[in-house]
Amino acid sequence: MLEEATERLAVRAVASHRLPPPPSALRGRIVVAAVAVGAFAAAGAGQTLHALGSSDTPSDEVTPLASAADGAAAFGVGGQGHAGSPHILPVAKTTDPAAEAQKLAKSAQIAADREAAEAEARRPKFARPASGDFTSGYGGRWGGMHYGIDIAGPIGTPILAAADGVVIEAGPASGFGLWVKVEHADGTVTVYGHVDTYSVRKGQVVQAGEQIARMGNRGFSTGPHLHFEVWNPDGMKINPLSWLNSKGISV
Ligand SMILES: [Zn+2]
Repeated sequence: MLEEATERLAVRAVASHRLPPPPSALRGRIVVAAVAVGAFAAAGAGQTLHALGSSDTPSDEVTPLASAADGAAAFGVGGQGHAGSPHILPVAKTTDPAAEAQKLAKSAQIAADREAAEAEARRPKFARPASGDFTSGYGGRWGGMHYGIDIAGPIGTPILAAADGVVIEAGPASGFGLWVKVEHADGTVTVYGHVDTYSVRKGQVVQAGEQIARMGNRGFSTGPHLHFEVWNPDGMKINPLSWLNSKGISV
């Protein structure tokens, strides 16, 4: 558009002035001067060139004018209005939907993580292994030693892991019919005997209060109950009632 306007001005200038063409050496200097100054408005430059004189053919004039304009652009001056000038590109406040979505997803993830951590902190870390009647304690009984506690209830009563841990046994056991053993982080092992059925497998990670079996009457048992033992990290069978009480669980 600028070039069109320039050309119109150039044509008018040629028509009105009709000056003789300058020597080609002078024309070259004019173009060089226009490039060096650079800040010329292209139309103004065109008029100046024509006022100084040029050839009779307008097409002859377009070439130095275009060169002058190109020169100005190349020097980085006088081109503020040109599209694509790096000086006027808007660079701030761009909204990238993908980046925004990523930010949202990240904050949602942070919130979810915090919620999970809070839920984990609130979660009970110990549980009564079964509901029912406390029928027998740890200690001497019938001329022998009873190494656990008994909690009696109907067959099928849920049996829960007393603490977080990993199942190390789930299956048949002499005297207990079927049992489940869970090892805890500090090396303590809890034992669940006479179970009717179990619902975990060796190696399974369980949480406190998670159901691992159901109450039964298998093995040497005089009625449906859970026989519950606690082995300390040294393998000693300790009083389960004391251990549960020390964890805030009453039986
Ligand atoms: Zn027992």
